[in-house]
Amino acid sequence: MDRNMRLTGPTPLPPEVLAATGRQVIGHRRPAFRAFVTGIVEDLRPVFGTSGAVVPLTCSGTGGLEAAAVNVVGPGDRVLAVSIGTFGDRFGEIARRAGADVVECRFPSGSAADPDDVRRALRRSSGVAAVLVTHNETSTGVLNPLAEVCRVVREESGALVLADVVSSLGATPVAMDAVGVDVAIGASQKALMAPPGLALVAVGHRAMAVARGRRCPSVYFDLPAAAEAVVRGDTAFTPAVPSLYGLRAALDLIHGAGLDAVFERHRRLAVRCRAGMAAAGFELVASDAVASPSLTAAVVPPGTTAGAIRAHLERTGIVVAVGRGSWKDRVIRVGHMGWVSVAEIDEVVATLPAAVAATTTTAGVAP
Ligand code: PLP
Repeated sequence: MDRNMRLTGPTPLPPEVLAATGRQVIGHRRPAFRAFVTGIVEDLRPVFGTSGAVVPLTCSGTGGLEAAAVNVVGPGDRVLAVSIGTFGDRFGEIARRAGADVVECRFPSGSAADPDDVRRALRRSSGVAAVLVTHNETSTGVLNPLAEVCRVVREESGALVLADVVSSLGATPVAMDAVGVDVAIGASQKALMAPPGLALVAVGHRAMAVARGRRCPSVYFDLPAAAEAVVRGDTAFTPAVPSLYGLRAALDLIHGAGLDAVFERHRRLAVRCRAGMAAAGFELVASDAVASPSLTAAVVPPGTTAGAIRAHLERTGIVVAVGRGSWKDRVIRVGHMGWVSVAEIDEVVATLPAAVAATTTTAGVAP
């Protein structure tokens, strides 16, 4: 058992959520399912900050990103992919495989998207149908200025905004309707502290109109059909009922605590984790202004490696993630989203100095 699991997802399940997943399944065409799925959607709406359609899909977050892409962009459509890391790159690749003409607007890893650069990119590329943006880039621990990006998109174009909120949903406001996101894609297994297996896709009326006006090439990921099923009180296909049970229990916990309190708890844990890691000699990747509420990424001190730090922590029951791609050896990422206590974050940062001391090789040779 991983005692203090501080991955960047999946996150541990609270006891109430864990217990709920063990209940007997119900049929998704039975009357009892109707109130059940309707209640979940109603309780997800404020988490997204929308009064529009929210569709649970049985797949991971990436499936939700695919669904968003294939419903609103098609072959030849121009798409601006704003990327600040590997998940932004992946969203662009998904649109590319859907046949879109993808124009990249990339920012260096560790920084947030600069809305002025997004504005310039929109002015350079005419006829952009959709802009892809990652709200919280999990590979670097950076939170993008989603509202500012949306504002620039609205000022410069009629493009739809598709936002990957997989690792921000439930940790910080998405405020979808207020900021003008057209499709927001979340997942169950991160800050929502529910079991893996569900993508949660919120679709605004502009995006729904576009999706309705075209024939979705995917039967499984047809968002208008999925949204109509939810209105009827079922799902288009057999859902992962135990994951929905878990999500129901998690939403009860979230709303019981109050959304604002949940967001504030994430903010405080992030501040605490960042201070602790910096004090232990780790160089924080994100500046304070764009720091993620969900995870902290930091460069390990000279003379050791991320893999060695992770292995040392694991021997004490603490599980963290290392960097992605070229950051694999130099960066560790500590998740502080979902069901996590101050004591668990304090334990991670208190263990770091010993991990560094035990893993640093001769005379400070840089990794
Ligand atoms: N987008 C972001 C920002 C993520 O953090 C992740 C997973 O870590 C994904 C997309 C992919 O989600 P999944 O692994 O559920 O497919």
